[in-house]
Amino acid sequence: MKTVIEPFKIKTVEPLKFTTRARREEILAAAGWNLFAVPAEEVLIDLLTDSGTAAMSSRQWAGILDGDEAYAGARSFYRFEKTVRELTGYRHVIPTHQGRAAERILFSILGGPGKIIPNNSHFDTTRANIEVSGAAAVDLPTAEGLDPALVQDFKGNMNLAGLERLLKREGRERVPLVLMTVTNNACAGQPVALGNLRRVAELCRSYGIPFFLDACRFAENAWFIKTREPGCRGRSPREIAREMFALADGCTMSGKKDGLVNIGGFLALNDESLAQQARNLLIVTEGFPTYGGLAGRDLEAFAQGLEEVLEEDYLRYRIRSIAYVVERLDELGIPVYRPAGGHAVYLDARAFLPHIPPQEYPGQALACALYLEGGIRSCEIGSVMFGKHDPDTGAFRPAPLEQVRLAVPRRVYTQSHMDYVIETIAAVFARRREIGGLRIVSEPPLLRHFTARFEPL
Ligand SMILES: *Cc1c(COP(=O)(O)O)cnc(C)c1O
Repeated sequence: MKTVIEPFKIKTVEPLKFTTRARREEILAAAGWNLFAVPAEEVLIDLLTDSGTAAMSSRQWAGILDGDEAYAGARSFYRFEKTVRELTGYRHVIPTHQGRAAERILFSILGGPGKIIPNNSHFDTTRANIEVSGAAAVDLPTAEGLDPALVQDFKGNMNLAGLERLLKREGRERVPLVLMTVTNNACAGQPVALGNLRRVAELCRSYGIPFFLDACRFAENAWFIKTREPGCRGRSPREIAREMFALADGCTMSGKKDGLVNIGGFLALNDESLAQQARNLLIVTEGFPTYGGLAGRDLEAFAQGLEEVLEEDYLRYRIRSIAYVVERLDELGIPVYRPAGGHAVYLDARAFLPHIPPQEYPGQALACALYLEGGIRSCEIGSVMFGKHDPDTGAFRPAPLEQVRLAVPRRVYTQSHMDYVIETIAAVFARRREIGGLRIVSEPPLLRHFTARFEPL
């Protein structure tokens, strides 16, 4: 097989800043051992997130200049609306400033105390917006998805038996909608099969419950379906994405992922009355329905990004660039979640640092070690993000997985940057026994991973 190369050439460059280890030690201590508090300028390779960090194409930049900034009925909105309608098939397209604004609007209408909202796995902002509404967010991943070493095609799937039990027990009175996250970000960016989506859609229909996609990485998911699901090889990513959307009644979307833009999101759906309520809420905090918290130029670039993200050369390179890193790490015996997901490399911190118990946050410790070693910024997705103390007993309840996510921004880094990342991880692995755990010094009530401060034990 020939090397899968980056299907673009570089037109504008941005210099990277190199720091010394001594400098990084000072920076990390000042940041309270939380990489979210490290200034981006002090990071060499920034794999904190793939959200809003994409490089835009020359066509998208041209769209930025071409954007129509009219308050109401801007040309850029109509282009955006047409693009989203053609992609998803949904009638109502409601732009928002990012994905979580679409979530907040949807759950403030459908959520509320006593309600239960299941998902294959909720991501952090989705869970937070559901819980803020007073509803409960329930994760239903498959057992296979929670096994970092098992190689299977669709580890992001919904646990169908679990969903059926929940729907039978609670019914449509308590379950206002079922969500499905594609790809499954909290479960190592693993894809969801079309077959699994079909079964979830059938179940929802039989109970009369609406079904929504958290569609942030719909194109990456469509590529996995194309290359892995029987009978899908000959179909285009667009056709597959169309079918994914057609199985659901609507979606929330963060354009900062597969929209290939730095800001933007939308809520799209078929139900007329729900759309009307959503637009009423939109006007209060986001803006008029034809811009929803975005500038016309953002809508223009977003529409263009939604076209480019489905190009086969792009998706082949994108998915290959993650698999490349996972394969190299696996060859080196480094515990990494397998197989590779769509947007990130997930290190298994529990296996990487077996001497650090979950309540001393092995994922956070590993993320800090990667920064100290090579100036790489990653993100803990483990007990800092999802661990809890039991409100009654005070007992610590760890997250199901202790992961460190190295999310790869779209079209930003080259293969040699990734080779440097592999070398850095290998160097930390060689000295892993010297790494100690952390304790939390201060934390906010919600989404603590963003602002908590830590101290080495
Ligand atoms: C990023 C993300 C969101 C929230 O989108 P924002 O644009 O960051 O507000 C919701 N769900 C998933 C799965 C995400 O990855």
